[in-house]
Amino acid sequence: MTKLTERVQKPYRYFGGEFNTPNIHKPHNTKFCMCVPDSYEVGMSNLGVRILYYLFNSMNNVVCERCFAPFADYQEYLKENNQLLASIETQTPLKDFDFVGFSLQFEMCYSNVFLMLELAGIPVLTEERGEEFPFIVGGGPCTVNPEPMYKYFDFFFVGEGETPWKQIVQDYQVNKGKMTKQEFLRFVDEKYSCIYVPSLHPATYNGQLVESLPSKTVWRNIEADLNTTFTPKTQLVPSIEIVHNRAVAELFRGCANGCRFCQAGFIYRPVRERSVDNAFELCTALLDATGYDELSLNSLSTSDYSGLMPLLDRLLPYAKERNVQLNLPSLRLDSFKGQMAQGNRKSSLTFAPEAGTQRLRDVINKNITEENIISTLKEAFSQGYSSVKLYFMMGLPTETMEDIEGIYNLACKIKSLYKYVTGSGKNFKLGVSCSTFIPKPFTPFQWCAFDSKENITQKIKFLQENLRKKGINFSYNDYDTSLMEAILARGGRGIADSLYDAYKAGATFDAWSEHFRWETYKQAFDKNGVDIQSIVGPRDIDATLEWDFVDIGVTKKYLQSEYNKAMQQVTTPSCNKQCNGCGLKKHGYCTLSEGNRPL
Ligand code: SF4
Repeated sequence: MTKLTERVQKPYRYFGGEFNTPNIHKPHNTKFCMCVPDSYEVGMSNLGVRILYYLFNSMNNVVCERCFAPFADYQEYLKENNQLLASIETQTPLKDFDFVGFSLQFEMCYSNVFLMLELAGIPVLTEERGEEFPFIVGGGPCTVNPEPMYKYFDFFFVGEGETPWKQIVQDYQVNKGKMTKQEFLRFVDEKYSCIYVPSLHPATYNGQLVESLPSKTVWRNIEADLNTTFTPKTQLVPSIEIVHNRAVAELFRGCANGCRFCQAGFIYRPVRERSVDNAFELCTALLDATGYDELSLNSLSTSDYSGLMPLLDRLLPYAKERNVQLNLPSLRLDSFKGQMAQGNRKSSLTFAPEAGTQRLRDVINKNITEENIISTLKEAFSQGYSSVKLYFMMGLPTETMEDIEGIYNLACKIKSLYKYVTGSGKNFKLGVSCSTFIPKPFTPFQWCAFDSKENITQKIKFLQENLRKKGINFSYNDYDTSLMEAILARGGRGIADSLYDAYKAGATFDAWSEHFRWETYKQAFDKNGVDIQSIVGPRDIDATLEWDFVDIGVTKKYLQSEYNKAMQQVTTPSCNKQCNGCGLKKHGYCTLSEGNRPL
């Protein structure tokens, strides 16, 4: 037998033993394995995974363990020793669980689902898994368009899981041994509007044209009130460095801003805030339970939290006394305030203007002006910040080279501003980072095309040449990786076979640039006759889309009206200012729509 420590880097990734591990040796009759098809370091940083892990382990007769995608060294180790992929906590093979749930946070992790199933000795295709195998379940944001993976999952859970998942597991406990797998699948499909069992709902396509959608309308579950929703007051403290190695408190869900390019802004609506008391209690409990000296106040747009100042008033003295660093990620340029800066000990700031001209910022509904950007950075520079990173997108709908020149012009203005404020340009670090825009489902731009390689190459060339001349760092995403993400996000059942073929040809860890090979996928798409252009090209605004059977609560009519406003460069105010009628009001989830606005 090969010796593990000689063969495998960071064995901790596969054997756990972290501080705050719940009691997984208690008596139980139901076992859930929470899987993340990415590395331990990435998966352990996910808040949703942490919540469900503690939720299941808080239930009577239920244990939940974890498993992450193994790197090549551990894959080889398992094969050499004829071992199956197993859970971290008790080394139980995945196939011996009742449920194996994959958190699908990012489309590029799909190939790792195949990898983990095969290493676990579980057939990849749903139809080949008999009674002896666990339910293979998918959850997370990618399930708003689950169709590319329809053949591989027994069911998908769409939306936020805290309340229904507890009930689903209890239903399983009641029916275990009495129902066949198929009967249980029918049962949950009928009982839960947020569950989608693809095998029960055929869909047909003619090329990429949707002829018939799955017969069920699948509702995205929304937790109504974060103050009462299950929230663990602890978190695992890993023994090795992970991506976000700190305590993390979620201040609110959803985002009021309605940026038209942002899928999260639509699929996590509406805004639901934790009360300041509840947030303070959570923050202090997490710090006490973990011993971390760093706390992140998380949400999609942290500076929009209406209780941020009162919370910081209480939290800053608490943090100072204990030498705890506060992190406020996701600051908006128009609401950066001195007091927030006090919470951040970093010398570097990151902001996302997203587009270089006001015209394009209006198209994408990024409700900030150049004046906001300049005045915010003026304040930041006067407070001593000397490093700024700006995020933009290329390939946005209606974009021209003038908008790309706008990125360059804005960066130059910021460089001059620093010199003006500090009297010296020395030691100033300015970075511009550009990603390629992906028109994702459930955004007002879902009908728009993904930009061509030729266009994006031209835009990169311009920025690269000109920004570097000014001493401004420039970085950009690989075009083929973004193209692949666009295909996975917008594809339907027609790409399912290709994804597995690409895996068989060697695709894994596609989210990692050193592993991703576009050629592998291109060959698989060619072999299966997939027309890529019909997936990433423009769609008719009235066309039926592959994901139309999922109801996220925001109506298609609203997305269409936002698309039309974008084309006319008309902005939509934040939900903090007025209700724009996205459709969630009628479901009774949006307290903002009842006039309960913070601003
Ligand atoms: S119902 Fe109104 S306030 Fe609520 S998320 Fe939709 S548009 Fe915003």
